[in-house]
Formats: sequence, C-alpha cells, structure tokens
Amino acid sequence: MISSVVQSFEASSPDLEHLRVPCLTCVACKLFETRRNVVFGEGDPDAKLMIIGEGPGEDEDRTGRPFVGRGGQLLDQILSAAAIPRASVFIGNIVKCRPPGNRNPEPDEVIACDGWLLEQIKLIRPQIIVTLGNVPTQWALDTKLGITKTRGQWGEFKKLGAPIAVLPMFHPAYLLRNPVRTVGGPKWLTWQDIKLVKSTLEELPEKSVAVRLEIPQTGLF
Ligand code: SF4
Repeated sequence: MISSVVQSFEASSPDLEHLRVPCLTCVACKLFETRRNVVFGEGDPDAKLMIIGEGPGEDEDRTGRPFVGRGGQLLDQILSAAAIPRASVFIGNIVKCRPPGNRNPEPDEVIACDGWLLEQIKLIRPQIIVTLGNVPTQWALDTKLGITKTRGQWGEFKKLGAPIAVLPMFHPAYLLRNPVRTVGGPKWLTWQDIKLVKSTLEELPEKSVAVRLEIPQTGLF
C-alpha cells in the first residue's frame, strides 16, 4: 500500500510536507490500531544530519512529535553538549506509530513502514545518519550485530544507491537505564560518539557539492 502511495507522491510534488499528508493516515501495519498520532518526524528538511530512533513512545504518541519524552530530553542534552542545534537535524523513527508498551518494532512492522523513511532520506539527502539503538542500526546497515558491537564505528547506508555514512549510537532510553559516565561507560561512550559526529559535520562540504564522505575506521577509540 505504501508503495502505491509513494509512486503517486513521486509523480506529484515531492517534498516532505506532501509526504506527511498520506503518512498521517497510514494503516499499512497493525500499529495503526493502537496509535493516537502518527509521528512523522521533524527538523530541517535540508539537514546534513538525520537521526533515526526505534519508534515513538507514550509522549511522542500523545504529541505527534519525535523524541519529546525523557529520552528526547536526554537526546537534546547530548546534541546541546556537542553544540549541534536540534533544529539543524532531522529526527525521526524507523516506525511512525507507537509499538504498544514501548516494545521494539517487529520485523513486519519495520518492513511495512520503511517506505516512509526511505522517502524521507531521499528528500532530505543527509550526509550523516545516526541510528539510535539496535533496530534502526540493523535496518540501516543490513546487519544482525547488536548495538554494543556497532556503536561508534562508521558504516554505510546503501539502500538508495550512493552510500551515506552511518554512525550507530546507544538509544537515549538505554542511557537512562545505564547512566554510567566513567571511562568506558555508556554515557562516556556516547560523548565520544557525538563528538565524532560533530567534528565530522564540521568537515563536510556544503550539500550542493556532491562529494562522498570518506569514512574513517575508528573502532572504539
Ligand atoms: S507504523 Fe508505519 S506502516 Fe505502520 S501504520 Fe504507522 S505509519 Fe503505517
């Protein structure tokens, strides 16, 4: 169903607002039955950096906005600490409707929903994608590796042709449960990751310049 909507969208006026309209009434998977709002995503439609989380939580379902609950507040703090304005980023989720009880999205839900996300990536053309947690990381990198193995290491998103650099990071909800700041702890590792994102953003050419980002192999610092 999404594919036919996307085809008619691409044949009309392809921009994020035109994509938002059909997305807000999507019923392509079972998550539509329990949602209050579709959380389309928000931010700069021309962002260099796109952040992809797992799925809306209770606060996001209530407001229709991504990352506004406690996890979102922590994400804001992480971005702010690295001097990355939230408004300069596009923030969304791999599924647009809340999985009941904040469970992880199930594979059939990810498959049903990722057409919306792929269209968003096509339109925004980010130069860096940060994936938060297992589900978006495994989707973006086509891997079964868990986030503890992948975080902090550059990968490539190749689903749309020219590769886009991907840096997996811990999900803020995980950091809320594991707020260890000492060297090697989850918060310390996240600080290293966001500093890497910031320094890479600063080195990027303007988006109008078609230059592929050379991805360094960083390991775990
Ligand atoms: S989660 Fe995605 S595919 Fe499922 S109903 Fe919501 S918008 Fe549609």
